[in-house]
Amino acid sequence: MRRKFLKILTSSLIGFFLLPYRIAISATKNIINKNLTSEQKNILFNEGTERPFSSALLHEKREGFYHCANCGAKLFSSNSKFDSGTGWPSFSESLPGAFKTKVDYSFGMKRTEYHCAKCGAHHGHVFNDGPGKDGKRFCNNGLCLIFKPTK
Ligand SMILES: [Zn+2]
Repeated sequence: MRRKFLKILTSSLIGFFLLPYRIAISATKNIINKNLTSEQKNILFNEGTERPFSSALLHEKREGFYHCANCGAKLFSSNSKFDSGTGWPSFSESLPGAFKTKVDYSFGMKRTEYHCAKCGAHHGHVFNDGPGKDGKRFCNNGLCLIFKPTK
């Protein structure tokens, strides 16, 4: 009886201390598009990465805009897209105010991760070896993007 009581007490104490953490996690999962696949959710909300050379958007050459797959925010223009050879859709610049960045130390590397400014979903990492005037290379998961042609 006493042991059972202790067990209940311990588990509720753990639950109590984990509560703010659980709230923090769920607050970042701002799912707007109910049709997202589990693979898309893993990248957008758990900072996952799609397999390189798997995105159909690598071959997208039309003029238009790339939108957030979750909230639909306009993120990149086709004018900034280039072939980086990395296997992920790459852009030399984002549209103004499209993203917020955060330093990511996972996998023993210091990288700058970026999130959609509107919904907070993870999109990829930005590096300083790009071809444009700012020298940026936005390495974006294709599954996080929806392309809308303008022509
Ligand atoms: Zn978004």
